Order: sequence, then structure tokens, then C-alpha cells
Amino acid sequence: MENSHVIAIPYPAQGHVIPLLEFAQRLVKQGIKITFINTEVTHKLVASNWLEKDGFSDLMQMVSLPDGLELWEDRNDLAKQTEAIFQTMPAKLEQLINTINKEDDRKITCVIADVSMGWALPVAEKMGIRRASFWPASVVTLASILSFQTLIDDGIINHNGVPINGNIFQLSPTMPPIKPANLSWACIGDSDTTKTVFLAIVEAAKAVLRNERILCNSSHHLESATFSLFPQVLPIGPLLASNRLAKQAGHFWPEDYTCLTWLDDQPACSVIYIAFGSFTILDQAQFEELALGLEQTNRPFLWVVRPGITKETTVSYPEGFMDRIGNRGRIVSWAPQQKVLSHPSVACFMSHCGWNSTLEGVNNGVPFMCWPYFADQFQNETYICDIWENGLALEKNIGGIITGEEIKSKVNKVLSDTRFKDNAVALKKKAVSSIRKGGSSEKNLSEFIEWIKENEN
Ligand code: UDP
Repeated sequence: MENSHVIAIPYPAQGHVIPLLEFAQRLVKQGIKITFINTEVTHKLVASNWLEKDGFSDLMQMVSLPDGLELWEDRNDLAKQTEAIFQTMPAKLEQLINTINKEDDRKITCVIADVSMGWALPVAEKMGIRRASFWPASVVTLASILSFQTLIDDGIINHNGVPINGNIFQLSPTMPPIKPANLSWACIGDSDTTKTVFLAIVEAAKAVLRNERILCNSSHHLESATFSLFPQVLPIGPLLASNRLAKQAGHFWPEDYTCLTWLDDQPACSVIYIAFGSFTILDQAQFEELALGLEQTNRPFLWVVRPGITKETTVSYPEGFMDRIGNRGRIVSWAPQQKVLSHPSVACFMSHCGWNSTLEGVNNGVPFMCWPYFADQFQNETYICDIWENGLALEKNIGGIITGEEIKSKVNKVLSDTRFKDNAVALKKKAVSSIRKGGSSEKNLSEFIEWIKENEN
């Protein structure tokens, strides 16, 4: 009889919820029941953009827990949010597990926590429940978290996680270089914020290292050097939308499907797709320069202008921009990105290089123009430009701006030099092979599912 029941807990950010939900859906397909726990604020966002059941089976239930802050409080204050989560959520999780174990015919048999929600692992440990951690970004980023002690011992950061100097380092000569200021805890605010978040990450990392399974949404084909140095981390990706035709769950903003019809009307391999994920903020001057650059390319473009992409409450485009662009450009506030990237009209992806966007571009063989904003996005840019060679970096001028001229010139280069598309297609083949039957990620996933089901009788 199937009786596995798994709790899955993502970090409350868009780029963490989508991949863990994809992963959870794989488990549901194998008859495993999932209770997917978001914080209240995230749960509301996800629920408001996911009205139907969208093909979710009865084995998937979505619930919420308070994160310790009032609903109106600012979640951009990461120190405050981290402290609140670590103080409040462990007890709430324990209560929830006890309730489920009393009321549900399937008791909780495993907890899968995002590494950034590593506080959940000791709760499972204490209750005698199996535990696994899930990392939704590159293994090189996870490696820098798990190597926190080495970074302190090597004088790269101090005991509070604050970088000691700006020197770029490598965890090993075969791994991409990292700038200390781009470490995930060091790029999010002042040194007090860094300290609070770093100490929480250290606790989480210790719990992860005591864990029975550490899973990462990446593939041996993408990051072989790092996976060989950190064999305890198992690649299970790249996770793709499990049902590419259905509306995808987990989005914080409503996806605008009308852009797919617009894409249908564009010539094959002609459109520049521009999207910077859920966090990036551009200043007004840069935003306008980007608009002018897209105009100068003279090519069709689909541009995601997310609410909050600039600090201003309403975005303003260069004078006359909309009239001059007409139907050549399409602007949406949130796109069904995976569907856009798999559309035959899309020629290239101007991206902030968030890991999910990176994987989604790779999975579809689309070449990149890289515009990283913070954190691991710079390492992902290194992968794209220097290691996989499926894209080019957009360079800032001495005033710190990526000019319209630069945008036009790099777009032309990426689209005229077939090397980028050829490399992108070759990488896609490799990446996708790892999740096909017999591929290394697929084997890890199957083994993980067997491990979860071991206790079934
Ligand atoms: N995304 C989307 N529509 C958009 C922009 C982004 O669906 O218009 C999705 C994208 O497919 C990816 C996620 O949002 O799955 C963003 O994650 P990523 O790691 O790329 O960036 P982050 O938001 O964490 O910076």
C-alpha cells in the first residue's frame, strides 16, 4: 500500500517556489502525497494566480504557515524576515506535522526543505522523520554555502560572513571564480543584514550536511567539476515544467498568455526575449536606455516589464517609444516564460541569469545575452560566456550603463555568429539527456523516490 507523505518547504521567493513545486509534482506522479508549505504571503500570491486545480492530483495539498511577521510588514528587510522565520516557523511546522499525523491516513514520512529553509531539518530530525534538502540553484552556489568554514579559514570572509577583501576566489581551480561580494549572504544589504542571514545559513548548512539526501536542480553535464568535488550533492535536473501544455502553478504574478499568440505571428527564430526574473531593479536611466537599445535593433522583441522593475511607481518609456515600436515589440508584465522560451519564434534571451532562467534557456537551446544583477547570477554568466559559450555578456560603460549601442551590437553578434546557437543546441541535448531514462539526474531521482518509498508496506 502506498503511504508515503512528504512535506516540501520552499524559501519564499519566486525562483525557489517554482522549481520545488516542479520537483514535488514528480513525486506526486509516483503516488507520493505532498503537503507543500508556503509562508502565508507567498501562499496568497500563488493561490491568486492559480485558480483552477491545473491538473494537480488529490495527492498535492498546498497549505500555509505564518512567517512570524505581520502580513503588512516589509519582507524586503531580509534580516528581519530571516529572524522571524527562524524563531516562528519550527514550532509551527512541528504542530502541523502532529496535526497531519493525527488526522491524515498518511503520516508524514519525509521532510524536503529548501537549503535556505534549513531550520526545518532539525524539526524533522527531532521527530524521527526522514529529511532531504533541495537546492534550486547551481551546485557551485551550494558549494560556497557548504564551504562556509573554508571561506572563513582562508580569510575570504569573517565570522559574520562579511567579505574581508574584494579578491576573486575559486573553491577549486576547476570551479567558476566567485567575487566575495556576490556570495548569497553578502549581496543583500548592510553588514548587519549579512551577519543575520549568514548565521542562519550556517545553521542551515550544518543541518544540510547531517542530512540523508542533498538534491540540486542541476546536471553533471552542466557542472561536472563541482559535482565531482561535492559528491554528496546529487543532481536531479534540469527540472522542466512537467506538463508543458498546462498552466503552471507557483507564479507570484498572473502570466500573460496573449504574448504566445503574438509570438505565433512572428517569423521563426526572430524574436529577442527580455526578462530579468522576480528581483532585478533597474534605474530609470538604464530602463530607458534598454528601451532605446531594443528600438535600435530593428528586430521583434518580447519584453517582460514586471511590476517593480524600476523604483518608480509607474514605469516611463522614452518619449514616443510606444508609437515608434508599434506591433514590433510586445510588452507584458509577466510571461509564461518556459512556454515563451520553447516557442520557435524566439531567437535569443536577454536575461539576468537567475539559475531557473539559465536552465530554461539551456533546456530550449536559446542563446543568451547576459545582464546579471546580483549574487550567483554573475557565476551563471561565467558559465554561459566562458564555459558553455552559448551567449555573450552585455558590458557597462564607464558611467555604469549598458548603452543602447551595446545592446544593438551584442544582439547582432549573438544572432549573426552561428557558434552561439550551435553551442546552445549542443548543450540542450546534453542537459536534456540527463533527465531522460538512464540519464544521471533521472537515476538520482529514481533512487530518491525508492528511498522515500522504502518504508511503504
Ligand atoms: N518567470 C516567468 N515569467 C516571467 C519572468 C520569470 O515565469 O515573466 C519565471 C522564470 O521562468 C523562472 C522564475 O520566474 O522560473 C525566475 O527565477 P530565476 O531563478 O530565473 O530568477 P529570480 O526571480 O530568482 O531572480
